[in-house]
Amino acid sequence: RAAAGPQYLNGLNPEQREAVETLDGPVLVLAGAGTGKTRVLTTRIAHILSQGRARPHEILSVTFTNKAAREMKLRLGQMLGQAVEGMPWLGTFHSIGGRILRIHAELVQLKSNFTVLDVDDQVRLLKQLLQAENIDDKRWPARMLAGLIDGWKNRGLTPAQVPSGEAAIFGNGKGGKLYASYQERLKILNAADFGDLLLENIRLFRENPDVLRQYQNRFKFILVDEYQDTNVAQYLWLRLLSQAPSRPGVPLSAIIPGDLTSPRLRGDVDARSASGEGDPPQTEIAETTPHPDPLPVKDAEREKAAPIPKNICCVGDDDQSIYGWRGAEVDNILRFEHDFPGAKVIRLERNYRSTGHILAAASHLIAHNEGRLGKTLRTEDVDGEKVTVTGSWDSEEEARAIGEEIEELQRSGENLNEVAILVRASFQMREFEDRFVTLGLPYRVIGGPRFYERAEIRDALAYLRVINSPADDLAFERIVNVPKRGLGDATVQMLHDHARKRRMPLFEAARAVVETDELKPKARGALRDLLLQFDRWRAQREVTAHTELAEIVLDESGYTEMWQKDRSADAAGRLDNLKELVRSMEEFENLQGFLEHISLVMDRDGDASDEAVSLMTLHSAKGLEFDNVFLPGWEEGLFPSQRTLDEQGRAGLEEERRLAHVGLTRARRRAKLYFATNRRIHGTWSTTIPSRFLDELPSANVEITESKGGSGWGGAGGYGPSRFDNVESFGSSYTTPGWQRAQANRNRSQGGRSGQARGGFEESQSSFSGGFSRNKRGPL
Ligand code: ATP
Ligand code: MG
Repeated sequence: RAAAGPQYLNGLNPEQREAVETLDGPVLVLAGAGTGKTRVLTTRIAHILSQGRARPHEILSVTFTNKAAREMKLRLGQMLGQAVEGMPWLGTFHSIGGRILRIHAELVQLKSNFTVLDVDDQVRLLKQLLQAENIDDKRWPARMLAGLIDGWKNRGLTPAQVPSGEAAIFGNGKGGKLYASYQERLKILNAADFGDLLLENIRLFRENPDVLRQYQNRFKFILVDEYQDTNVAQYLWLRLLSQAPSRPGVPLSAIIPGDLTSPRLRGDVDARSASGEGDPPQTEIAETTPHPDPLPVKDAEREKAAPIPKNICCVGDDDQSIYGWRGAEVDNILRFEHDFPGAKVIRLERNYRSTGHILAAASHLIAHNEGRLGKTLRTEDVDGEKVTVTGSWDSEEEARAIGEEIEELQRSGENLNEVAILVRASFQMREFEDRFVTLGLPYRVIGGPRFYERAEIRDALAYLRVINSPADDLAFERIVNVPKRGLGDATVQMLHDHARKRRMPLFEAARAVVETDELKPKARGALRDLLLQFDRWRAQREVTAHTELAEIVLDESGYTEMWQKDRSADAAGRLDNLKELVRSMEEFENLQGFLEHISLVMDRDGDASDEAVSLMTLHSAKGLEFDNVFLPGWEEGLFPSQRTLDEQGRAGLEEERRLAHVGLTRARRRAKLYFATNRRIHGTWSTTIPSRFLDELPSANVEITESKGGSGWGGAGGYGPSRFDNVESFGSSYTTPGWQRAQANRNRSQGGRSGQARGGFEESQSSFSGGFSRNKRGPL
């Protein structure tokens, strides 16, 4: 290593280098898209390791997706010139939280092989609870309760902590009680839902200071990517871990004082303490009276007792905060300096990702938001190609046009791995999938409707889950009569009654029931056979490879045969999927490891080795980059999403705009936007108007192109399809004050927009405006 320092530092700009080399004390990197935040984090880890400041297992590093974690490991290996063995604590909040929870499962009344439920399981379980409480599922849908519970968990609230006013909004005041009994049921089932992976982890730490201390001791460095999207629970969890190990006897209140929780949470806590509910004091979040000021002066007492914050480095971008709907709090960024006194805040301004036109378009668009910290971004790259905007008649034509453009790119030598299609809503994907299959274009779906969520895969997994954990009632219930064995609803209901009465899992209840004559002989025989099969499979598990076991189970259970006999068009595909499932298990050492993986795979990444177009939602595209980015569906109602506007008004609009900004800033060399005039959403055709976000792009950086789908769109000077008389065409030049009329139209048809975005329309002369066809109907 020369005087210039280790090689991995080469090429970093001075600010990046500072962020990498400032190892002691808290660091916040607040910077725009493509400025190298993630690169800084990775280099920082390399630096910590090569300086010998910590060993791999002493670094806690949180990424937003599992894929990002894998990528980071790969890059690390490249930087250090050798594969990095074991960075066990590099992963998502949930994977790390789940890992810690498994180690100490008994302390939160679980066993270490607990099952992680997905949303469907969750809903089924809640339905049972609603039934038991005689609550009408139609009036109070289980899905709604699942959403509420998820929201509470994201905010770090245990059943006892949910403010009574909020708990009351479901099921005539029974929401809180249902949340409590849901948690109880989970324990009996030896299961946790996704939110529990963190919430239960927080509880574990709060109730077991010695365990917390152990992890505080271990993690010498903490690094967090995409900090703008952390929610309250993640924030609390980080807070707990990011303190230097507390001495025994230092009360937890010194570590998590009340004023550290988000304003929203503080409000809630207030309401709760007034009602006298809550956990014992030493485990409370807000045992100290919340200070009325948002950022109160430091409490001298606390300063003394509180240990020094550890070497924590968070990177984020307020303009990319896109998970508000999931409880993310961009406030966490704003609070950083307060929470970590002495924090060094570093700003990065040079964008290394995108060409000039793309960066200008993205910056101009996001400038329409009011709630931002504001920042400058520059690139030293060439201007490159302008951002294109293309209109089509409908989504099919849009898919056709994009398909053709991609083929053209491919012919010109582009690697398909550098092509991505980013959609606002996952239903938009099917059209592209269909198109790609027709064209024979390889593609992969990232993060979206997952392979593992297909019905046949879930059935197969249910068998494996029951083998792995006999207490997994939901899995057992799913397959007890699949294929049909004459164990219908009545039987299942009876097993349930049994299980509830004796507080035992269904499987155990079934064992008891077959010994009695409560079931008709036929059902009893079938149930006994099934139980015996499971016993046999469990025994086989000890001596057979898990992939082989899966094949045996699918055969012997009659499940494969069920699909072989099935006459429907997709049966063959399902059989293929089952085969693929068994193949996918090969990558894992054993069944437990595989099931663990399934429960955590939130982003399905496909195999990276093959060249393929990536298809994903804008939300899953965070942090990624591609040479060519296609952005279809820029229409009012779809993007910005009408639902977001209806539910969250202006704040929702700003979040949608950030999402548009995230989309544009994924592109290195080409960004291509599309809108269709007709779109079918959930089976209903609607006529649409182009997204307001298109109006907000600077004309100097944008070019309108014609659809290559070839349906006779456009033509000389016209972007409006004159064949439709409900559509006005503003089209022939940019001088038409089209945006004014369109705007007036829109304001009339839609209450969601209150006033213009600041700065936006003063600049409208230079803004890209007009040029698109407008119709007189409202948005979707
Ligand atoms: P986002 O906000 O989208 O997550 P980011 O700030 O994390 O973006 P990175 O993904 O780390 O940005 O970097 C963007 C691109 O710029 C990457 O391809 C990265 O390798 C490159 N890059 C970052 N810093 C430099 C540098 N100093 N020299 C050359 N390339 C760089
Ligand atoms: Mg990043």
